[in-house]
Amino acid sequence: MIRLYNTLTRQKEEFRPLHEGKVGMYSCGPTVYWFAHIGNMRSFLFADVLRRTLELNGYEVKQVMNITDVGHLTGDMDDGEDKMIVAMKREGKTAYEIAEFYTAAFKKDLETLNIKPANIYPKATDHIAEQIDMIQTLEKNGFTYQTSDGVYFDTSKLADYGRLSGQKSEEKKAGARVEMGKKRNTTDFALWKLSPSIGSGHQPHERLMEWSSPWGIGFPGWHIECSAMSLKYLDVPFDIHTGGVDHIAVHHENEIAQTMGAEGVLEANIWMHNEFLTVDDGKMSKSLGNLFTVDEIVAKGYDPLAYRYFVLGGHYRSKLNFTFEALDAAQNALHKLREMIRSWTVSGKIGCADLESEFLAALNDDLGTPQALAVVWKLVDEDLPTEVKAKTLLWMDRVLGLNLEEYLGHTLNIPEQIQQLVQEREAVRKQKDWIRSDELRDQIQDFGYVVEDTDQGPQVKTL
Ligand code: AMP
Ligand code: ZN
Repeated sequence: MIRLYNTLTRQKEEFRPLHEGKVGMYSCGPTVYWFAHIGNMRSFLFADVLRRTLELNGYEVKQVMNITDVGHLTGDMDDGEDKMIVAMKREGKTAYEIAEFYTAAFKKDLETLNIKPANIYPKATDHIAEQIDMIQTLEKNGFTYQTSDGVYFDTSKLADYGRLSGQKSEEKKAGARVEMGKKRNTTDFALWKLSPSIGSGHQPHERLMEWSSPWGIGFPGWHIECSAMSLKYLDVPFDIHTGGVDHIAVHHENEIAQTMGAEGVLEANIWMHNEFLTVDDGKMSKSLGNLFTVDEIVAKGYDPLAYRYFVLGGHYRSKLNFTFEALDAAQNALHKLREMIRSWTVSGKIGCADLESEFLAALNDDLGTPQALAVVWKLVDEDLPTEVKAKTLLWMDRVLGLNLEEYLGHTLNIPEQIQQLVQEREAVRKQKDWIRSDELRDQIQDFGYVVEDTDQGPQVKTL
């Protein structure tokens, strides 16, 4: 039995798929006007662990992840600076070129962190017609009104608007200063925004990402893409919807409202949200200099899968604080596992059933990855033939995704060039030239190897 925490009901629920043996899953994807940071990647790692856990239980998972390449609306309240235009000015490129570049960078990050690709990555700009269609349905069903600057969803028309966050419209008003503009209710949100520059003879301007619509030239609101694309690729209702906790109060609330208004059903049965990654116990931000990308972590000499291991060490519903000390500890643990499995030459036919079921039980209890990792170390200490351990560890790695199979039985083949650098470093260490010794250590690291000084002499490992 798999139990998952459903934000909608505020409790762990037994997972019951809508279609036997199959799971439909939609994961809110990235905005693509800048590189994803390691906090964003926590969200995608969480969705990956969920998907792999379902697969380990024998389900066939269809995962859809949107790419938000329309950049006009940035703030949750349809406000804020337009990040796509900021990026266009910064880089002197068209919106499409910006989106293409950062989408490719995002997919590379997924691969680097061994996150399985989704089955489909629909782009918002490829689905303008579907979004217009859905807005028209909402209009027909009486959920919209038009103002001089766009078409809005009237949240007062939906009896249970706010059920996901449990916040009522008036509470939101009291809690936050909301720019009302031409909206009727504080929680109302844009479905279609009219371009500000409309005059006679104005044509949709591809460079600026605007399109013709029954309401005039403009662009879709941020939330409608997910309702329209999940309907197209998964049909509604589907099983599970994922995203970060910041999506609960506005984005997912509004997705639910749109799908309910247009299709008359709850978009997804289970809504799951990952907590935030913090850095030095605070928010990551560019101005504080503590916002890191996967590439930056790698450039500092870390194995990207050490970050994956670090994320597995926290439960997805708890805040996780990133520090380089914690990443060091994760990398050490990962190295230890890899070094161990090098001496386990083959994987047997039969694994350790007890520990396998303990591991699965941990994951099936709302993705208990810290407990699952504890079972891994229990296995390591167990007095069992190594082929049995190898079989079990590789089975576990189907969810952990640490690429352990690459290391099984593979003694390190250290290239000549690295061996020379190591010898040179030993020589300067004897002369107590620590500066040169550190330089050589860095050079070795640039090639993807680390030297550890032990009582038996230098030990070389891969990063
Ligand atoms: P964005 O590209 O800004 O839409 O973010 C992509 C995903 O990352 C969303 O699901 C966010 O909820 C999530 N996210 C953003 N910041 C963090 C963070 N610091 N920790 C974890 N998840 C985050
Ligand atoms: Zn979304």
